[in-house]
Amino acid sequence: MHENLETLAIRNQAERSQYLEHSVPIYLTSSYVFEDAEDMRASFADEKDRNIYSRYSNPNTSEFIDKICKMEGAERGYAFATGMSAVFSTFGALLSAGDHVVSCRSIFGSTQTMLNTILPKWDITTSYFKITETEQLEDFIQPNTKVIYAESPTNPAVDILDLEYLGKIAKKHNLILIIDNCFATPYLQQPIKFGADLVIHSATKMIDGQGRVLGGVTVGKADLIKKIYLFSRNTGPALSPFNAWVLSKSLETLPVRADKHCENALKVAEFLETHPQVDTVKYPFLKSHPQYQLGKKQMKHGGGIVAFQIKGGVQAGQKFLNSIKLLSLSANLGDTRSIVTHPASTTHAKVTEEERLEAGITAGLVRISVGLEHIDDIISDLKQALENAKH
Ligand SMILES: *Cc1c(COP(=O)(O)O)cnc(C)c1O
Repeated sequence: MHENLETLAIRNQAERSQYLEHSVPIYLTSSYVFEDAEDMRASFADEKDRNIYSRYSNPNTSEFIDKICKMEGAERGYAFATGMSAVFSTFGALLSAGDHVVSCRSIFGSTQTMLNTILPKWDITTSYFKITETEQLEDFIQPNTKVIYAESPTNPAVDILDLEYLGKIAKKHNLILIIDNCFATPYLQQPIKFGADLVIHSATKMIDGQGRVLGGVTVGKADLIKKIYLFSRNTGPALSPFNAWVLSKSLETLPVRADKHCENALKVAEFLETHPQVDTVKYPFLKSHPQYQLGKKQMKHGGGIVAFQIKGGVQAGQKFLNSIKLLSLSANLGDTRSIVTHPASTTHAKVTEEERLEAGITAGLVRISVGLEHIDDIISDLKQALENAKH
């Protein structure tokens, strides 16, 4: 009935209680009661689809998952305490000892650390392809490969991967394609349309949108989600009902917030492109972006993240950050408040320089998560900080 994503994100609510509330209450309950012994037996035997214990399911988390599923075009999902627990539980549920992952090199720092140092404890190994090697993706596939993993746009260099191509390769080799869709949000891009089997979000970012709570979610094919559900039901990474309530409310305003983030980000990118202190700017919807056409094909707008290369390398980058007055120096992104970071010295400091360069993270790369402040105020802060970075 409600076809449009904006309407789905607002009207898809948990069932009303006997109080006929308009806004969904928070169900802070760890467990649920049964009618009698037979009801209890049947519920535990999975003969009934109902809430048993909030590590398994809860009305608030179910509402949040349901909205994300509808927005992404997914069959089912499971919600997690953080984006990283979504990534870990998805790998944990689907991979066994001896399995192999093919991943893009440009992925979130903690995901890379997990693939490099944690999964090898269970003899699960990873081969990385660079963005520029996407066309040779098949060369990285081994007989024991199970998963292709990627993010688009990438963090923090804002490159775009061809999701349709990844989907075709995954299908051809019978692999599970997992896309971390955090940077795009379910509003700007739906990877399942292009062949993804599973989509992961850190809901901490633009889905919350106001820097308050942590959360994560994995949605996609029902048979894969069933495995992820059973793994998670027994290992315990569930999202709290309170955070689920916050995140579900946030989804109601995601489309209008995302529109404004994208509008501001494009203006910031255009401003930076003309500034003499700036070497290069990367933003998916700038015509100068190497994958501009691909971005237009896959995404509704360019997203809230702009990356640029300041003239003068690390030193100028640090002067620039030290001169920022309005914007925040913080590790989050997708917040109402604009945030600047220097990935080489912060989020990606633990990966080697060679790995950093392969992921497009040069010493002078600055990432801006463009917020919802007035665009004139954002730009004037950037302008004065760029001036100061010169001296
Ligand atoms: C932040 C982030 C994560 C991790 O999410 P948390 O909620 O911080 O655990 C994963 N992937 C991407 C692309 C992110 O930006």
